[in-house]
Amino acid sequence: MKTIVAATQNKHKIVEIEAITSQFGMNIIPRDEAGVPDIDIPETGTTFEENSYIKAYEVMKLCNQITIADDSGLVVDCIEGAPGVYSARFGAFPGIWPTEADKDESDSDSKDNNRKLLALIKDVPYEQRTAHFVSVITMVFPDGETIVARGEVHGHLVSEERGDQGFGYDPLFIPDGYDKTFGELPSELKNSISHRAEALKTLKEKLEKLNID
Ligand code: IMP
Repeated sequence: MKTIVAATQNKHKIVEIEAITSQFGMNIIPRDEAGVPDIDIPETGTTFEENSYIKAYEVMKLCNQITIADDSGLVVDCIEGAPGVYSARFGAFPGIWPTEADKDESDSDSKDNNRKLLALIKDVPYEQRTAHFVSVITMVFPDGETIVARGEVHGHLVSEERGDQGFGYDPLFIPDGYDKTFGELPSELKNSISHRAEALKTLKEKLEKLNID
């Protein structure tokens, strides 16, 4: 069994990722168990790929073991693709995009994020409220080898929060082919069609091609 160190401390994400990697003889441990200090890794990238890589690479340097990281967010077409990589702290700054003065803001509450998003799209007709969630999972090996897997789920945004399942922007997002939000749909269904599920499927395909000893 190979041990992979998760850059994320989010246990829910670790369980989802391990369901795939365990099929390849890889078990996941949280970074604190690998002796990685609880330091803040600034997500300075402007793409999900960059931030996912930064997280995985910085943790790999600290423990010299294979690491895995994920970066995710919501891309809303009618507001220039915002909040994108700033999804976690969207409610903490006033504009669509953060300015230099906002760069040190920490994560904001989901309620604030959703309230801000709803205010921005309130006059946009439903057909034009297209959006997609993105998840990029990156695995970095100590020899520099890197595997990147991106997943997306597309849909529309509703005009008020619906449902209490899931987290974050889930109560606002109806995936294509359904008439309920991720906040209303059962979590097993969300977890089978989500951006993270899609990224994990791609990760699985890439691991299958890789010769892991
Ligand atoms: P992170 O990848 O943990 O930094 O998450 C980024 C942010 O994107 C989260 O704080 C949520 O606001 C949003 N997000 C990512 N994935 C989801 C999801 O599956 N549902 C709802 N919101 C999400």
